[in-house]
Order: sequence, then structure tokens, then C-alpha cells
Amino acid sequence: MKQILISAVAVLACAACFAQGRTDFPMKPEMTEIWDPEVRVVTPGATPMDAPSDAIVLFDGINLSAEWTNDAGNEPGWKVADGCATVVKGTGVIKTKRQFNDFQLHIEWTSPIEVVGESQGRGNSGVFLQGLYEVQVLDNYNNRTYRNGQAGSLYKQYAPLVNACKAPGVWQVYDIIYTAPRFNPDGTFFTPPTVTVLHNGVLVQNHVALRGPTEYIGVPEYFVKAHGAGPIVLQDHGNPVRYRNIWIREL
Ligand code: MG
Repeated sequence: MKQILISAVAVLACAACFAQGRTDFPMKPEMTEIWDPEVRVVTPGATPMDAPSDAIVLFDGINLSAEWTNDAGNEPGWKVADGCATVVKGTGVIKTKRQFNDFQLHIEWTSPIEVVGESQGRGNSGVFLQGLYEVQVLDNYNNRTYRNGQAGSLYKQYAPLVNACKAPGVWQVYDIIYTAPRFNPDGTFFTPPTVTVLHNGVLVQNHVALRGPTEYIGVPEYFVKAHGAGPIVLQDHGNPVRYRNIWIREL
């Protein structure tokens, strides 16, 4: 009951904020969490996919530093072994050296086999498109959290259509189709970025239009700043999430 009330208050508060495009009161993280109704669970079937001939391979399971750096532009601090790259807590994000506009991205990830924590604390990482818009990576296999913050969400903007999570330790796939925002020559906003996401072959985001860069606290600002091409950024949220077989096709 308490969760429903909190969700209702959050929805009303957000609706008011989005309508105005600003807030007149101090925001807290939970004010933009939406819990109900719980996202329906679907059991996925597909196995992962190798890169097609025209893809840029961003990570082949062996060499991470060819295409990636840490946030400062130096050697990534993540551990590379056994054909995958593992988040090392405290080393920060990794980001691609290349910058992208419109693309199709394939990325495989798995939550830690040892289940630790709950809600947002279990297997948290994320794929940031153009470094700004997060597709949440989270272990939501029998792990409830707010619907607009779970795996396959555009964090705090769009809940996934269904919960297609596999168990911790099992490899999962995101196939992400992204169209960058367009800006007028004077830098003002023209069209928002749009995102389609398949999670383990199941559609979880169907061409949604983003409201602005991902925000943990408060509502997204509606494109007050123009931006050009940007990197793919993978989040260090302190959990040893693993990644492999990452490839991209520029569109
Ligand atoms: Mg995250």
C-alpha cells in the first residue's frame, strides 16, 4: 500500500514537473521512481549473435584497450579474462574511443553469479548511449525494483514492456537501435533521440523518444544543450557485471 501511495505521489509530481519542464522544490531520488504495476515476466529463448560483416567489433573478449578507455582517456581499469570484461569497483566507467551518432549496438552482459544485494544494488551497471542516455543493466531475475529503473528501462524515463531477464551468471543480450537527436543550426532542439531495445530477443523498448539526458535525481532537462556524436559508456556501479561480444553498426 505504501509503495502504491509513493508511486502515485511520484507520478503526480513527475506529471506536474514534466508539464512545467522544471521543479520548484528540492527533488529526491525516490520522487522519480515508479513501482506499479510490476513489469510482467517473459522467459526468453534466443541465443546470442555473432557480429555481421559490416559491424565494428568494440570488444572481442580479449582486447579491451583497442577500442575503450577509462573516463580520463587512459587504459581501462576493468578486468579482462575468460573472454569477458568485468567491472572493477571504483575504477569508473569505460567508454569507446570512437564517437557515434545513429547506430545498432549488440552487447552481451551477465549479472554476478553470487547474488548480493537487492533492488538497485544487485548487478547494477548500464549502457550509456552517446554517453548521456542510460539503458539500465540490472539483475531483475526475482529482484523487484521500481519499474522505470529495472533492466531494459531507459532509466527513470521508460519502463521495459516486459521483464526478459535471465538468471544471474547466464549471458544476456541487448540489441539497441538508436537515433541521435537533431538540433537546429542555432543549437536549439529539433527532434529527440529515439531508442528501441531488444532484451534477449524480446522487444522491451519500442522506438521511445527520450525526454533528455538520464538523471538520477529530478526530472530530465528537455534538451537545453545541443550535442554531437558521443561514445558508448559502460557504468561502474560497484557490482562485478561482465560484458562480452560488443559490436556496433553505424547507420
Ligand atoms: Mg545503472
